[in-house]
Amino acid sequence: MTQTRRDTSPTDRREILDKERHAEIVKLFKEQTQVERLAAARHGIWEAAVIYMAFSITDILLIADVAKTVILSRFLITVIGLLLIEGFFYLKVRSETFDITCALALVLSYFAWLYPASMTSQTDNFRYYMVFGSLFMMSANLFFGFNIKLSIVTSSCVLGLFFWSLSSLSVADNAYITAFGTFYVSCFMFTSYVSLRLNRERFQVYLNALEAKEQNREATERGKALLRLSNTDYLTGVDNRRAIDQRLRDSWNEWQNGSAGFAAILVDVDFFKKYNDFYGHQAGDHCLVLVANALKNALIPFNASLGRYGGEEFIVVAPLVNREDVTRLAEIIRKTVEDMALAHDQRKDGLSIVTVSVGAAFTREQLDARLEKLITEADRALYSAKANGRNCVRIFDPADPLTGDDNEHIAALLRVAISNNLISLVYQPILNVETGEIDAAEALMRLKLLDGSHVSPAVFIPIAERTGSILDIGLWSIRQACHDILVSDAAPTVSVNVSPIQLKIKGFAARVAEILAETGVEGHRRAFEITEGINMDRQSVVLSCLKDLEAMGIRIWLDDFGTGFAGLSWLRLFNFDTVKIDRSFLLNVETERGGALLKDIISLVRNRGHKILVEGIEMEEQLKLMQQLKIDYVQGYYLGHPSPLDSFKSRLLA
Ligand code: C2E
Ligand code: MG
Ligand code: MG
Repeated sequence: MTQTRRDTSPTDRREILDKERHAEIVKLFKEQTQVERLAAARHGIWEAAVIYMAFSITDILLIADVAKTVILSRFLITVIGLLLIEGFFYLKVRSETFDITCALALVLSYFAWLYPASMTSQTDNFRYYMVFGSLFMMSANLFFGFNIKLSIVTSSCVLGLFFWSLSSLSVADNAYITAFGTFYVSCFMFTSYVSLRLNRERFQVYLNALEAKEQNREATERGKALLRLSNTDYLTGVDNRRAIDQRLRDSWNEWQNGSAGFAAILVDVDFFKKYNDFYGHQAGDHCLVLVANALKNALIPFNASLGRYGGEEFIVVAPLVNREDVTRLAEIIRKTVEDMALAHDQRKDGLSIVTVSVGAAFTREQLDARLEKLITEADRALYSAKANGRNCVRIFDPADPLTGDDNEHIAALLRVAISNNLISLVYQPILNVETGEIDAAEALMRLKLLDGSHVSPAVFIPIAERTGSILDIGLWSIRQACHDILVSDAAPTVSVNVSPIQLKIKGFAARVAEILAETGVEGHRRAFEITEGINMDRQSVVLSCLKDLEAMGIRIWLDDFGTGFAGLSWLRLFNFDTVKIDRSFLLNVETERGGALLKDIISLVRNRGHKILVEGIEMEEQLKLMQQLKIDYVQGYYLGHPSPLDSFKSRLLA
C-alpha cells in the first residue's frame, strides 16, 4: 500500500484516500444502521403480509375458480415467510441476510400468487388482475429499504416472472403484451430510479447526521477546553480561585449531605514581596511555579486538590477530618517547600531559602457552621503560623487562644483598649535572695472586658501579637511601668514582658529610646523579659534589636527558661543579664529526680555566667531551697501576688 502511494500523483493519492474514506464511511453506515434497518424490515414484512393476505378478497372476486388454491398458497408463503423472518430476528442475523430473506419472500409470494392464479379459467379477469403484480416491484424498490443492488435484482425477478407468465398466458395478445409489458418495464425503470435516489438520500442523511455528531463532539471538546482554561491559574496551571471556590462549595455541600468532611489548608510563601522586589517579578513567577509543581506532586497520594488563592497564597482541599492527619499533611506541605531549598537571602530572619507558612482548618460539627467560617478559621491559623516566626504549621483549634473562635471581639477591644482604659498593669515583687530586699517588680498586663471581667494575658497577648495591637499596648506598658515604678521609686527596677514579635517590628528600639528620654530614667533600671518562644537561630532581626536595647543599658532577661526547645540556642546567641527559670521546675522539686533536674538547670545557667531568677515560689520550703541553692532572685505567690500599683506600694511599706 505504501509503495502504491509513493508511485501515484497527489491527485490520485487524494482519490485513493477519498475512496478509502468513502468505503470506511459506507462500512460505518452499515454497521451503525444495523438495528434500525432490521427493525424497519421486520415491520415492513408484517405490513406486507397483511396486505398480501387481504388480496384473498380480490382472488375470490376475480378468479373464484382457483381462489382456494391461491389463498392457500398465499397463506403458506406468508406463514413460512413470517416464521423465517421472526426466527432470524430472534437469532439476531445481520440486516443484509434479513433483507435477502425479505427479497426472496417477496419474489416467492409473487410467484405463489401468479402461478396458481394463472390456472384460472376466468382469463379476462386474470388479465386485469395481472396489473397488481407491479405492486411487488414497487415493494422491492420502494417499500423495503433494500440496498440498490438487492432492490434491482428483486424487481428484475418480478419483471422476469411477469414476462414468463405472459408466455404461458394463451390469451395474451400483442396489444396486451405491448401495453402491460411497457407498463411493467416503465414501472421497473421508474421505481428502480426512485430506489437509487432513496438509497443515496438515506446515505446522505446518515452522512449529515454523522457530521452533525462530529461537530457536536468538537463543540463539546471546545467547551471543555474553555472550561478547563477558565478554571486554571494562568501562571501555575493549578486550579484558579474560581475553580477552588467551586470545589470548596461542592465539598462543603457533600459534607452537609452526610459525606465525609474535608480540610482547607492555606499555604503562604514567606517574605514573597521581598523575593519579588529583589529577584524581579519573572523570578517571582518562576518561584511560584516551582512551589506549585512541588506541592502538586506531594499531594498526589492524598487525593487533595491544589489551587492558587491569589498572589503567593495557595489552598489545598483534602479529604481529611482528624487533627493528626491534617497536621501531617500540613507538615508535608511545609517540608516539601523547605526541601526545595530555593535561595531567598532577602528575608532578614536568618533563613535564606524560600519557605511557606501553613494554616489549616477542618470541618467539625458546630453551631453556625458555614464555609466562610471554615476559611476564616484556616486564615486565622495561617496568621498564627506567620506570627510564630513563619515556616511553620498551625491547625485551627477553637480552644486555642492563638487561633480560637471567640476572640474576634478581644481583637477589636485591643484596638481601643488604651483609649478606653481597658488595659492596666499589675506588679509582682521580685526578691533578692541574698539581701531579702525587693529589688524589682514585674509588670504584668491585664485586660478588662466591657462587662468588667478580666482576660488572662495568656489569651489576649497572642491575639495582640496576631493582630499587631501588641506594638501599641507593648509601648504603653513600657511607658506606664516606667512611670509607676521608676519615677515614683516604688522599686529599683521594673521588668516588662516584651514579646519577640515586638522585637521584630521595625523601629521598636527607637520608640523605646524615646520613652526612656521622655521619662528621664536610666536604662539599667529597666529589664525586658523575652520568652524563648521562637527559634533564635532564624531570628537575626530579633537579635539585633536586643543588642540595640542592651546598648541603651536595658537589661535583657530570658523568661520561662526551660519551657521551649529554643532556650539553649537563645543562651548561645545572646548574653542575657538574668535567666528566669520557669516555675514548672519547682513542681516535683521534693523528689530526687525533680531536685536533680532543677540543680542541673541551675548549674547550666550559672556556668554560663547569668544571674538566676526562679519563678513560682509558693511555699516557704521552696524559698529555703532557693536560699540553699544560692539563687539570685525569686518571685512567686509566697512573696506576693501580682497586684495593682497601690497595693504593691502599700505592701512594700508594710
Ligand atoms: P510570665 O512573664 O512568666 O509571668 C508570670 C506569670 O506567672 C504571671 O501570669 C503571674 O501571675 C504568674 N505567677 C507569678 N507567681 C506565680 C506563682 O507563684 N504561682 C503561679 N502558679 N503563677 C504565678 P500572668 O500575669 O497570667 O501572665 C502570663 C504571661 O503573659 C506572662 O508570663 C507573660 O509571658 C505574658 N504577659 C503578661 N504581661 C505581659 C505584657 O505586658 N507583655 C507581654 N508581651 N507579655 C505579657
Ligand atoms: Mg515574665
Ligand atoms: Mg515567666
